[in-house]
Amino acid sequence: MSEKIQMVDLKGQYLKIKDEVDDAIRSVIDSTSFINGPSVKQFADNLSEYMGGCHVITCANGTDALQIALMSLDLKPGDEVIVPAFTYVASAEVIGLLGLTPVMVDVDFGTFNVTVDNLRKALSPKSRAVIPVHLFGQSCDMEPILSFAEENHLFVIEDNAQAIGAEYTFSDGHKAKTGTMGTIGCTSFFPSKNLGCYGDGGAIFTNDDILAGKLRMIANHGQRIKYHHSVIGCNSRLDSIQAAVLDIKLKHLDEYCRARYEAASYYSAKLREFDPCCKFFETPVELEASTHVYHQYTLKIKDGRRDALKAFLADEGVPSMIYYPLPLQEQEAFKSITRSAESLEISHKVAYSVLSLPIHTEMTQEIQDKVLDAIRKFFANC
Ligand SMILES: *Cc1c(COP(=O)(O)O)cnc(C)c1O
Repeated sequence: MSEKIQMVDLKGQYLKIKDEVDDAIRSVIDSTSFINGPSVKQFADNLSEYMGGCHVITCANGTDALQIALMSLDLKPGDEVIVPAFTYVASAEVIGLLGLTPVMVDVDFGTFNVTVDNLRKALSPKSRAVIPVHLFGQSCDMEPILSFAEENHLFVIEDNAQAIGAEYTFSDGHKAKTGTMGTIGCTSFFPSKNLGCYGDGGAIFTNDDILAGKLRMIANHGQRIKYHHSVIGCNSRLDSIQAAVLDIKLKHLDEYCRARYEAASYYSAKLREFDPCCKFFETPVELEASTHVYHQYTLKIKDGRRDALKAFLADEGVPSMIYYPLPLQEQEAFKSITRSAESLEISHKVAYSVLSLPIHTEMTQEIQDKVLDAIRKFFANC
């Protein structure tokens, strides 16, 4: 097999469900209900059931989901929202966009996620909300984060764009899906996400009936009754074709999560066998309280060899990606609007050592062995 190795194999995944997806898309086109057609409600209902019964408000993309979430909380300019420094820009961009102040905190070196200790350092009289990001597919350690937020009257907006399907277990044994534990949860259906559509899409989750109504209103031009606008809102919709695709893929989500987890386990087993003392790199750390749905399989490469490894892999026909090359405190856009409570050195260190390997639902051991061989070959010369 000489097929090109890909970071994500959307084509292979599509071919397995092609007939079903093609029928669903055709039926939306036949109905011409392109906006707010029946597939949108059907998908929202099924997703709500999957998530454990919360309200689901669909919207145009994950960034809008975060923005609408923040808009629903009656925050004022200058209010502070605490966000990890190591994340995709969207988690913090919306804070700045709304005239709020992003306060950056460091992440844990092992899990890449924010910890309650770091959040605590950022607390000020202006703190109003925190945005824990469940990065690369596993939950932040939410139990202490939720208690901290409650003690300090902070809203919790979970950025669940990379972890849909992951589950967190509380100390009393009860489990919850990521995205349903905080005040509001947000997700993205960008094609390469774990539950991705064939364009843009997003959703907002909440267990609060009143907030659900407000979120729905904001996403729909600030109106509850057509042409009667109570607040300034936005126009953010999941279209019917995307909803129809998502409704089919949702049925496979658990199987997709499992495939990613199995691929990750195989990588980790082989890589630890090759480098048992972590001389060259560190494999992903799994939090005991969370399942990991491996949106990314991310190594930390030691001794400044990350970029050389990436270039070597590319020569060997193995793609890899750097998510994310700059922590937020080093991004031009945030320099004048942010405050940070600490040095953020771990976010810096992580950004300069991470390398994500190909991982997707169609991964075979044959592909993985090629990736692994190329990695071994690189370090054999070190
Ligand atoms: C993808 C992503 C988003 C934004 O989603 P879009 O649908 O691309 O707007 C937000 N946060 C994180 C962590 C993401 O990975």
